[in-house]
Amino acid sequence: MNHANLKLLLKKYEQKRLSAFLALDRRKEDLYASCPRLQEIDSELSQFGLNTAKCILSSGSNFSLQELKEKIESLKLEKQKLLQSLNLDDSFFQPKFDCFKCEDTGYVKLENRYELCNCIKQKLFDIEYNKSNISNLEQHNFEHFNFDLYSDKINEDLYRSNLSPRENMKNIKDIAGSFIENFNLPEEKNLLFTGNTGLRKIFFIRLYCL
Ligand SMILES: [Zn+2]
Repeated sequence: MNHANLKLLLKKYEQKRLSAFLALDRRKEDLYASCPRLQEIDSELSQFGLNTAKCILSSGSNFSLQELKEKIESLKLEKQKLLQSLNLDDSFFQPKFDCFKCEDTGYVKLENRYELCNCIKQKLFDIEYNKSNISNLEQHNFEHFNFDLYSDKINEDLYRSNLSPRENMKNIKDIAGSFIENFNLPEEKNLLFTGNTGLRKIFFIRLYCL
């Protein structure tokens, strides 16, 4: 994984989350402007929420706990009715994230650990994919694979093989193809691509993954 790309994406996610909260604030402002009673209810609800906390912690509230609960319930009911009359529900007061799984944090909690969410994994994949200059799959696919580009001359000294580069490439393509065909079978072994940077190993991987 490219950590610089991940860092950049996480920064973008942070901005995306912030934008979602700012958009929510704007939505609320507009709603309150068109329905001031809703703003009053929300402010009363938070005030009663504070009073409830006070009431639980000490005797500093003017209301009994039961009175506060009843007032809160009655305000919530009034709010719900007002929202219904406007064809809205509680989701209106939630930020709109692009990804509901990670809420645009880029991470999801799995038992006791956090893992990258699929949405950010896909973005990392896309970045790498585009960088590999093979995004044009209409042209860059195995139907257009040209074995003529590989020599059919055997040169054991140069290639350390008694196969010509062309035969070797045909074998590699067959092995990779068979790997994908049998990918779901438990007895299928892993496929390891090795080689120096720039040899286009990723070309095979991407094409067989898509
Ligand atoms: Zn996500």
